[in-house]
Amino acid sequence: MSPLTAEKVADYLPLAGRMPHISGRIINVTHQIPYNISRSSNSVSTVVSDDPAKSTPPVQKIEKEEDEEDDGVTAAPVSKVTRHHRRGRTLRAKFRAAEWMIVQNRGHGALNAGLQSLNDEYQTLHIGWTGPIKDESNKVVLPAEDLSEEDKTKLSGLLMETGHIIPIFLDSKSRGHYEGYCKEVLWPLFHYLVWTNDSNGTAEKQYWEDYVAVNHQFAQVIAAQYRPGDIIFINDYHLLLVPEMLREMIPDAPIGLFLHATFPSSEIFRCLSTRKELLSGLLGANLTYSYARHFIGACTRVLGCESTQTGVNVNGHIVSVGTFPIGIDANRVDQFRHEPTVAPKMKAIRAMYADKKIIIGRDKLDSTKGVLQKLHAFEKFLHDYPEWRKQVVLVQVTTPTYGDNSKLENKVSEAVSHINSLYGSLEFTPVHHYYQDIDRDEYYALLSVADVGLITSLRDGMNTTSLEYIICQQESHGPLILSEFTGTAGSLSAAMIVNPFDYAGVAKALNEALLMNPEDKLTRHNQLFQYVKEHSAAYWAKSFVKQLVESTQNFSLQSQSTPPLDSQRFIDSYKKSKKRLMFFDYDGTLAPIVSVPTDAKPTAEMLQYLQDLCNDPHNEVWVVSGRDQACLEEWLGSIKNLGLSAEHGCFVKASGSSQWTNILENVDMSWKKDVVEIFDYYTERTEGSFVEHKKSSITWHYRMADEEYGLFQAKECQNHLENSVVAKMPVEILVGKKNLEVRPMMVNKGEIVKRILSQTPDADFIVCAGDDKTDEDMFRTLSATYFARYQDKLNSGNTETTWNDTKSSLYTITVGPAKKKSMANWQVETPANVVGLIAKMAEADKQA
Ligand SMILES: [Mg+2]
Repeated sequence: MSPLTAEKVADYLPLAGRMPHISGRIINVTHQIPYNISRSSNSVSTVVSDDPAKSTPPVQKIEKEEDEEDDGVTAAPVSKVTRHHRRGRTLRAKFRAAEWMIVQNRGHGALNAGLQSLNDEYQTLHIGWTGPIKDESNKVVLPAEDLSEEDKTKLSGLLMETGHIIPIFLDSKSRGHYEGYCKEVLWPLFHYLVWTNDSNGTAEKQYWEDYVAVNHQFAQVIAAQYRPGDIIFINDYHLLLVPEMLREMIPDAPIGLFLHATFPSSEIFRCLSTRKELLSGLLGANLTYSYARHFIGACTRVLGCESTQTGVNVNGHIVSVGTFPIGIDANRVDQFRHEPTVAPKMKAIRAMYADKKIIIGRDKLDSTKGVLQKLHAFEKFLHDYPEWRKQVVLVQVTTPTYGDNSKLENKVSEAVSHINSLYGSLEFTPVHHYYQDIDRDEYYALLSVADVGLITSLRDGMNTTSLEYIICQQESHGPLILSEFTGTAGSLSAAMIVNPFDYAGVAKALNEALLMNPEDKLTRHNQLFQYVKEHSAAYWAKSFVKQLVESTQNFSLQSQSTPPLDSQRFIDSYKKSKKRLMFFDYDGTLAPIVSVPTDAKPTAEMLQYLQDLCNDPHNEVWVVSGRDQACLEEWLGSIKNLGLSAEHGCFVKASGSSQWTNILENVDMSWKKDVVEIFDYYTERTEGSFVEHKKSSITWHYRMADEEYGLFQAKECQNHLENSVVAKMPVEILVGKKNLEVRPMMVNKGEIVKRILSQTPDADFIVCAGDDKTDEDMFRTLSATYFARYQDKLNSGNTETTWNDTKSSLYTITVGPAKKKSMANWQVETPANVVGLIAKMAEADKQA
């Protein structure tokens, strides 16, 4: 099992190939709306009609717009050297109504392009903060508190008409939220920059309060807009608490959260004092997309959740987790690079570096982008491969970012001078470093003329430059060298993947890239290009929506409350049916739990009822237990025609057969060795814990250990297992009561039920009773099978079918107290009730 990738998601879906039907709207939520708002003091009278019935858009001018703002995340940089150069031209939509002007915002290009693409097929609504509202004349930010209700209403009307946007007006808390908690705490942490500032924590505390308050304001606005049928698509780390808050306000809403930042390893994440709140906030969603492995690691380590590679179990609900990097709008980039102003610049650059190979790098100047490492690697390259000296130039464009990076800036300048003095001469400079924003035309010209693209980020989510480079290389197919620490590296396997800290390795890759023959270049380029083209921003958004709809359906299978069994209905249904399939767990279901397990012997009465049931040729009865074969044989072997399954589905003996089958016979069990090693390590370090070996599984028990320490060690151990064993072998970890069990994925009670069910497709009455977690696998399998049948009926045009109708012949019964969380459809209190039901069925047989 590998993590959920874009490709996987596609086959995973029963809906593959077409977009799901959504009866309501998609509510897109981003921190900020995709428009900048300003107010002109001399109110222009190009007014929007106040009559809502008139849906004519407000006065719209599409302009070649000069930008003054830059939020540091623009996809393509625009020159600040400007004061002398003409700037890049941008087409941006501008709308004006009365004194308000809104201009499309160019930041987060990929994200907004993706979300906007959803408009083609769905009704959408976009909710977000207005951003700072400026006075057009003096560019001063107007405090949101100064806006009158009338202003807000007018502005909201304009935004709704322009792009179905609901603005959120934030007061002064927006600073603590964004500049404080997001920028000072979360962003650095997500980029592995921990505690770079000394502080006494007061500021953080205030930031956190603002973060909570702003998240709450978002949740309230979303909940107020939500109508049943809508789905909610929340973006990024600014809003991590919103899913849980929404879950409380609108429990059944489909909620997805996409985290665009990288999720740090749990080692780093758990340094955060608010780690629990943030994780629980996120887990309010049905679907969470982020860097799945680290996210799941944090959930198990910080919250002790049970997990698989594709989801986290939160109080009995599975929250799907996946990885799915956002793409770029490839067509738009293609359009940009073909603008008439680009070609002359390409020519100029080529003339400047005639007969030289050009390596291109473009990064923001912050320590995560690895500019310094790139320079060291380039130096190493010139040292190790002297034949390339004076033949190759590195053109590095480094864009300034928000904040003080002067130390890094100095180090970069020193490294550049060092290389240039060592390997340069009067007429030749090996490194051309531009510490500035560049014109968009220049940017695309550079990407197009490059012979090699070099990206050495130490930590990066989606690296847009790498994707844009690929689009720009359609003619020359220059190789891409990409750091393994970028989020895109996992998807761009045809790039040359390097470790940016290994200078010799990067140098070697540079040499290989420069020597690569045209056929290899073409093959690699085609693969990369195909990927970028297919995995566009629009594809990203649609896939997320598909996956969210799918997980929500699974979620709705997870019954919210389990009513007590209606035994009259049960017996009526039994009598009417022709082919019945029954599964009973043993301990806690047919027999009460006792303190000495060997005392759980069946009573003569119960044996008789079971025998009566098995005598009816319409019935197929199974006992599916965690106990071993010998025990089941001893206690239940005398019942004719009873099917038995031992060790949670590991061994089966069909009714009427005398042979046990070992399901694990052909299963690779080599993982056991690794698991035992890890368990032994923790046993040595946890007084009172021990390891239990079974044929199908290995369990580490810590019930005799110190309670708190045992639990702490268990989480550590679980995380350790997840990273070393679960990541590469098809096994899963079950978090039990004071134990951890590792078992093969394909062996559980659910799988055995699936097997038996497939051999009895005509069953028209199914009973399945059980009391613990392992029985939930049976309930889940049965519900999913019925749900698939229901969907088949719907898809074949049978619109009168309801889900309740479809599952009316399925009796999944959990044994335990009322209000117990379970996937079962029905509940009974005690094993005696189960035996009572068997007696009633046997009785009904006799009457028939
Ligand atoms: Mg049981």
